[in-house]
Amino acid sequence: MLDPNLQRERMVQRQIADRGIRDPYTLAAMRQVPREEFVAPSLREFAYEDSPLPIEAGQTISQPYIVALMIAEAGIRPGERVLEIGAGSGYASAVMAAIAKEVYAIERVPELARLAGERFERLGYDNIQVRVGDGTRGWPEAAPFDAILAAAGGPSVPDALLQQLAPGGRLAMPIGSTRDQQRLVLVTRTENDRFVQKELGAVRFVPLIGEHGWRDDAPVTMAEPARRVRGRGDVSQGIHGLIRAAAEPLPDFSDPAFGKMFDRFADARVVLLGEASHGTSEFYRARDAITRRLVETHGFRIVAVEADWPDAASIDRYVRVAPAKRPPEPAFQRFPTWMWRNTDVDRFIDWMRQHNEPLPRDRQAGFYGLDLYSLNTSIHAVITYLDSVDPEAATIARRRYGCLTPWSKEPAQYGHMALTAGYAVCEEAVTKMLQSLLSKRLEYSLKDGESFFDAEQNARLVRDAEAYYRAMYYGSAESWNLRDTHMFRTLQHLLDAGGADSRAVVWAHNSHIGDARYTEMGQLREELNIGQLCRQQFGDQAALIGFGTDQGTVAAASNWDEPMQVMRVNPSLAGSYERLFHGAGVERCLVDLRSGQHPELRERLTESQLERFIGVIYRPHTERWSHYTDAQLPRQFDAYVWFDRTTAITPLTDEHGRGVPETWPFGV
Ligand code: SAH
Repeated sequence: MLDPNLQRERMVQRQIADRGIRDPYTLAAMRQVPREEFVAPSLREFAYEDSPLPIEAGQTISQPYIVALMIAEAGIRPGERVLEIGAGSGYASAVMAAIAKEVYAIERVPELARLAGERFERLGYDNIQVRVGDGTRGWPEAAPFDAILAAAGGPSVPDALLQQLAPGGRLAMPIGSTRDQQRLVLVTRTENDRFVQKELGAVRFVPLIGEHGWRDDAPVTMAEPARRVRGRGDVSQGIHGLIRAAAEPLPDFSDPAFGKMFDRFADARVVLLGEASHGTSEFYRARDAITRRLVETHGFRIVAVEADWPDAASIDRYVRVAPAKRPPEPAFQRFPTWMWRNTDVDRFIDWMRQHNEPLPRDRQAGFYGLDLYSLNTSIHAVITYLDSVDPEAATIARRRYGCLTPWSKEPAQYGHMALTAGYAVCEEAVTKMLQSLLSKRLEYSLKDGESFFDAEQNARLVRDAEAYYRAMYYGSAESWNLRDTHMFRTLQHLLDAGGADSRAVVWAHNSHIGDARYTEMGQLREELNIGQLCRQQFGDQAALIGFGTDQGTVAAASNWDEPMQVMRVNPSLAGSYERLFHGAGVERCLVDLRSGQHPELRERLTESQLERFIGVIYRPHTERWSHYTDAQLPRQFDAYVWFDRTTAITPLTDEHGRGVPETWPFGV
């Protein structure tokens, strides 16, 4: 679990201060209140996300930025008395209570009021009173108030509330002519008893239900969660026909026509093939068919995947019909093993081996890992290499890498230690190690260029992993960015090593290969990815191909390091791209999204929708919050491959004909 204090600090900086909120009282209060205490335990990991979250009774806890904006605009000051309408989780009340003298909070749903009251007591907020009731009438016995905040949107500002404002008092409230779309207004009661109104922009809150609000004609549990401000019209009208018109049906995976459909991308330097989960067979089989075609017919000789360098290196020896290392270094032993040890990957690497067998090494296709989770194995690989070429240098490597050894089992702990120590304890050692290896490139490469390249990549990986584990401790964008930058640089080294006409196919999750600038990753979280970096580097010479599905089964775990299960994938949510494609009624297809293709469809799809991302973890019960984010699909990808129904991969076991799985792929 990431340190909530750090996450909170970062939330205040990135989501609030960087967006222009300067009020020191608001910033200090947002730094104090533990937001994770105001959401259900299953949603704690999202407590510092830049979004509203669901709470009990179908209501929401507002987005941190919106809470801060309202409090800052209302200018709440020490000594003041404040009324909140719509206490919900109690979070906003707690933030105000950290500034003001007294906070009065009204909540319509008894269960929410009770839970909020319990939280205040447990966390020691003794200056908040909560009561159940209709907040549109205010709290006349406690009036007047210096500030009133409404956390739900009504058709107009209730007169009763204006009357309960003290002279000089401020009221912030979402107002709108429909139940679910509003603009935020700030009303100030001047000293000479006039009301001055200021507009603060479009927002989306849950409806304010009561005598001077909306009528209670829907059960509260039906309320839509409040969403960030952004257009999300109903684009489904007519769009199904546009999707059908653009959809090119996909043949069987074993039909050579499948791969041929992707010939249009064969001029690219890099073809990036995504996946919408790490455990769906159709995505693997499609990537297999496309990659075969690119390798066999179009001269692609690099297959670079979202796996660690040393694991992939052992597969590389297999596909090149080279002997396994002695002692064997088993590949993909760690969670999530099924991502690579599955029957689809097994079939693919067997095909690579057959393809390579008659070819000289420089015309063979190689299998490489772009990821950086193999700190230990990579350290070991560098030392073993140096033992064989330069034992003296190996001794120095042992000493330098020794800095990280105490944390070899739990590298994340290294990040914590470095943070506590206040400096990057092992950075110098791992950087020097890479430098001294590179300075001997000529000398070492003369002996064996391939082995040097492998050692070099491992030394780079160790250098980047050291930084990654330090950044990870802060959570959010930095560690992700270090990881994807490492992936991109590794790809570049591979392309460089392959010469001017080298070309690569990349297999990685949609979240890595779909241009991050057109998803929440880039737009809200300052995250970049390998797809974006490839586009920036190669322009039209990078083809970003995304994958999607509506429902079926998937191989995934409930939590990290827990066993794989075959889980049912929920039908996609309304408001998502998946729902649009499902609605079009196409079973499996390719949609070309490059500019010039299907302009009307692309324009319609550019209106941001939700998109589902399932990784190695799948949590169907909190699916909206765990797996969906906003995206602009036609900008994120150059093409989209759709399978309406999909099935889980089959993990390799003894029965799959390879003898002891530990030594896969080499067998015993
Ligand atoms: N500030 C809260 C936001 C909760 S959402 C938080 O940060 O958690 C808005 C809340 O307003 C909901 O809990 C809803 O039940 C409540 N609400 C709606 N109409 C209301 C009314 N007339 N009086 C009091 N509460 C109301």
